[in-house]
Amino acid sequence: MTDGGEVKTVSGRGIEAAASDVDARVENKISALAPEQLEIVRRGAEIIKSGGLVAFPTETVYGLGANALDAEAVRRIYETKGRPSDNPLILHVSSIEMTEGLVELNWRARMLMEKFWPGPLSIVLPAKEVIPSRTRGGLPTAAVRMPDAAVALALIKFSNLPIAAPSANISGRPSPTDAETVRRDVGDKIPLVIDGGETRFGVESTVIDMTGEHAVLLRPGGLAKEEIEAELGEEVLLPQDQTIIKRSPGTRYRHYAPNVTLILAAPDEIPADAENWAWMGISEPAGNPAKKIKFRDDAEYARELFRAMRALEKSGVSAIYAEIPEERGIGRALKDRLVRAAGG
Ligand code: AMP
Ligand code: MG
Repeated sequence: MTDGGEVKTVSGRGIEAAASDVDARVENKISALAPEQLEIVRRGAEIIKSGGLVAFPTETVYGLGANALDAEAVRRIYETKGRPSDNPLILHVSSIEMTEGLVELNWRARMLMEKFWPGPLSIVLPAKEVIPSRTRGGLPTAAVRMPDAAVALALIKFSNLPIAAPSANISGRPSPTDAETVRRDVGDKIPLVIDGGETRFGVESTVIDMTGEHAVLLRPGGLAKEEIEAELGEEVLLPQDQTIIKRSPGTRYRHYAPNVTLILAAPDEIPADAENWAWMGISEPAGNPAKKIKFRDDAEYARELFRAMRALEKSGVSAIYAEIPEERGIGRALKDRLVRAAGG
């Protein structure tokens, strides 16, 4: 791979060697699956190939997947979720070779793929024509990602297709991080929900735009901005609100919201007259919450956030006070989801 005539290497090795490292990581993960799981995944792959929907676990949240190259299958995703049609989907792949058929790669994007895939990083690049406009929400670009979960990788590999998959929840609700929640939201509308236990990250992937001269963060997520910057050797830019809405339509919508008022607060900021309130955070709150969920650190806060919101909304409290995390590492994604859940 050359760019401007200059041969680029990754960590002092050839790019092809690094790409085959990614393939080896994928093979290792798939080979750890039990025969019963493989059987279910094979059934899922048949459904995907015939244009149906399958919910499956990734390391971030559960996805609602369909053949990304089949506009009719993709239409069913939007319909099932009630998702606005201009909110583009991420295409999930199981190899860098598969990615090459979908988008125009550049060497910096490839470097990130080789470093962080499989993992919670979605990369926006110019789309090739094979991707239906509906999958891209009408944009000339597409987001690609390789999930770091054996079931997801096997599902993609066995169907031999890129799988378009947003989170497997009804649009606007908190994302599902276990199979039971998926069944409750969309279980009666789709033929198969693959159970892979609780997800490891609990927040969605980081989305960066690599179509321009500088990397731009479109959505903070499971992979910290700082880690991407260390690999690229340059700052990842934060777009201004106006441009981010144009570049990543999904960020415009209210998201992740529980059915009860959510308020961002510091632990000593709970109003004295608050009644029947819940606390969620890392610190001990002042006052007497009716319910309290405390996390060890930001990673646990992120992993448990959506489940905690759903549990608290069912508990009958009248408001949830959520501690504001610091904007570093996973805290950036956590804060983003909290602000949106609170309604902006
Ligand atoms: P979700 O499927 O709910 O995790 O949302 C996918 C996110 O990726 C949304 O914020 C989309 O706006 C964003 N996204 C997907 N494709 C693109 C693209 N081609 N350009 C910019 N953002 C994208
Ligand atoms: Mg979602």
